[in-house]
Amino acid sequence: MARQTDPVCRLCRREGMKLFLKGHRCYSPKCPIERRANPPGQHGDKRPRRQSDFRPYLREKQKVRRIYGVAERQFRGYFRQASKSKGITGEALLTLIERRLDNVVFRLGFASSRPEARQIVNHGHIQVNGRRVDISSFLVRPGDVVAVRERSRALPLFKDRMAQAEVRAVPEWLVRDLSAMQGTVSRLPERENVDATIQERLIVEFYSR
Ligand code: SF4
Repeated sequence: MARQTDPVCRLCRREGMKLFLKGHRCYSPKCPIERRANPPGQHGDKRPRRQSDFRPYLREKQKVRRIYGVAERQFRGYFRQASKSKGITGEALLTLIERRLDNVVFRLGFASSRPEARQIVNHGHIQVNGRRVDISSFLVRPGDVVAVRERSRALPLFKDRMAQAEVRAVPEWLVRDLSAMQGTVSRLPERENVDATIQERLIVEFYSR
């Protein structure tokens, strides 16, 4: 994907909400959103702006792209794929993105944020069904076993993440075995397993204009 070079906290301030891109810092008082939730810019971008009708649609799409760290082109590809599915397009879009390997690694608690999960996958620390997979956009299927590779298990990073994962809940569509550093995809994710605050209807309308 296109590399995101903006400081990530600016992205949260742009969206006016926490996108949880920095792991533990996001849950601490150091989070800039806790201190000043104004948009980025020289003067906190407080200048009055004319709000176009288009803005809520664009912002919702950008928000989801940023949460999952997906480039525009790839996101549009997900939308195309979702619009061909039999179900509701918005729901199909979200549940499709939810199946990305980097998201699964994050959901299992093997990484403290999605950006970290993507790096872990790209660096070859993850295997699916016993085979190394270093493509963060890989889509998991029911029955897949996602695990930290044997040779990576002794790394301090994973020891640390496994200790922290004990207090993190796992979504119902995944079954985690922390002692084996692995998780199984028990079924496909459903809409209720994805962030309830996302208004996918706005994203569908954005691409349908
Ligand atoms: Fe967003 Fe986390 Fe930065 Fe807070 S600390 S602004 S939630 S990335």
